[in-house]
Amino acid sequence: MASNLHMLIIPLMCPGHLIPMVDMAKLIAQQSVTVTIVITPRNAERYGSVLDRAIASGLPVHILQLRFPTTENGLPNECESVDDLPTFSLSKNFFDACAMLQKPLEDVFNELKPRPSCIISDKHLSWTADVAKKFQLPWVIFDGMSCFTQLATHNLCVSKVQEHVAESEPFVLPGLPDKITMTKSQLPGLFNSGNSARGKELKSIREQVRATELGAYGIIINSFEELEKRYIDEYRKIKQGRVWCIGPFSNSNKNDLDKAQRGSNKSINNHYCIKWLDSQHKSSVIYACLGSLTRLTPLQFIELALGLEDSKIPFILVVKGGSRTEEIEKWLAEEGFEDRVKGRGILVRGWAPQVLILSHPAVGAFLTHCGWNSTIEGICAGLPMITWPQFAEQFYNERLAVQVAGTGVEVGAKRVIHLEDEDGVGIQVKREDVCNAATRVMSEGPEAETRREKAKYFKEMAEKALEEGGSSQLNLRLFIQDIMLHTNKGGIAG
Ligand code: UDP
Repeated sequence: MASNLHMLIIPLMCPGHLIPMVDMAKLIAQQSVTVTIVITPRNAERYGSVLDRAIASGLPVHILQLRFPTTENGLPNECESVDDLPTFSLSKNFFDACAMLQKPLEDVFNELKPRPSCIISDKHLSWTADVAKKFQLPWVIFDGMSCFTQLATHNLCVSKVQEHVAESEPFVLPGLPDKITMTKSQLPGLFNSGNSARGKELKSIREQVRATELGAYGIIINSFEELEKRYIDEYRKIKQGRVWCIGPFSNSNKNDLDKAQRGSNKSINNHYCIKWLDSQHKSSVIYACLGSLTRLTPLQFIELALGLEDSKIPFILVVKGGSRTEEIEKWLAEEGFEDRVKGRGILVRGWAPQVLILSHPAVGAFLTHCGWNSTIEGICAGLPMITWPQFAEQFYNERLAVQVAGTGVEVGAKRVIHLEDEDGVGIQVKREDVCNAATRVMSEGPEAETRREKAKYFKEMAEKALEEGGSSQLNLRLFIQDIMLHTNKGGIAG
C-alpha cells in the first residue's frame, strides 16, 4: 500500500519512551511502510532481540546506530539510557548528549533510501524539529502520553489557573469533559517544577520543549478511541485533526518472547517469577512495580513491602533501588522479609518482564506508579489497578484510571516526587494505605466486582482497536495516507 514511504523514528532513550516507539515502529512497518529507528549501540543491543525478530519476519525495519557522546558530556561511559544515569541530577547532561546526535544524523541523512517522508520523534528532542526543517519533512511528535494529558496540559497553558492557587489547594482542571480535581503539587514539572536549582533548570528545558512542540505537524498517541474518546475529540479540535491514536502499542507483542524481552534483551519468558505465578490461583496475585525510573527511599520502600505483607494477598514486588539498593537490601536481610513472605510473595530485582507478567492468569491487580505505558498496559491486561503516582504526568493518569475508566483505586499519594530531588520526601504513603487499597481492589464485594468488569471491558476494546477494522488500525491508515498525500504534494509543514 505504501511501499515508497519511509519514516525516520527518533526516540528518547529512556525505557518509557523507547519501548513504545519500538512497538510503534513495528506497527507502522506492518503497513508496508519502511521505518528506520535511530538508536545508540547499547540500546541497539538492549532492544535488538525484539527488532531482529521483526526484521527476520520480513518487516521493513532498519536500525541506524549513532555513537552516544557520553564522556564529552560528563556521563559514565556506557550510560545511554535515562535509567542508566547514576543520578538524575545528570539529566541535563543526558539531554545535551542527545542534542549532539543532530550532526551525525544530518551527515548520514542523504544515504537513507528511499528518502524519508517524515520524522517521528520524541517531542523532548527539540533539535529533531531542526533536522525536519532542514530536510523539508513533516515533524510528527510522540511523547508517550495520553490525550487526557495533552488536553489538560493545553488547557492549563492557556488558562494559567494553576498560577493562582496554593500548592495544596484542590482546583478543577479547566475545560475537561469530566470534573477532575487536583492540586498544584500534583501537576507535572511544566507547572510544578519544585524549588531546587535543578528543578528550575529543567523547567526552562520543559518550556523550550513546549514552545517547539507547538510547531509540530501532528502527534501520534499511544491510546485508543474507546478509552478516552471525549478527550481525544477535544484535543483533535485543538490540533486541526492531526492527532492519531494508534495504540495500545503493547498489544502489538503477540508472542511470549517479545513480551518478555520488551525493554531488555536479557529477560526471558521462563523467568522465575512466571514459574512462581504458574503455582498461584487465578487472579490472586498483586503485581507491584513502579516503572523504570522510580527509586523509592528506603523508608518508603519499607512501607510498601510491609503493606503488601499485611494485606495477606500474594504479590510480586519489583525492587529498583538504584543508589539506595544497599540500604534496601540491608533492611530486607535484617528483617528476614523474603523468608517471612515465602510462598506468598516474591521480589524481582532489576528488570521484570512486565507485559508477560500482566498477561498471566494468576495476576489479579496491578499496583502501579501510573507511568502512561504501565497504565495502558494494565488496561490492556484487563486488570484493576492500585494507583500510586510518583512524578511527571502520573497524577493525570491516576485520574484517568480512577475516574474516567473506573478501574483504579488510589493509594493516597499527595504530591509529585521530582526525580531530580535526590533526597526524596520521606514517607508519603503508609503501610496501612497500601494494605487498605490492596484489600479494596482484591475484595469480592460489588464495588470491586464492578471495577473488574470495567477492566475486562477495556481489555476487549483494546484488543479490538488494533484488529482489522478497529479504531487504531483505521487511525494508523489515516496517518499513513496523510503523510503520503503530503509527500506527493511536496510540502513541508502545516
Ligand atoms: N518495564 C518493564 N519492567 C520493569 C520496569 C518497567 O518491562 O521492571 C516497562 C513497562 O512495561 C513500561 C515501561 O517499562 O513499558 C515503563 O514505562 P512507564 O511509562 O510505565 O513508566 P516510566 O518507567 O517511564 O516511569
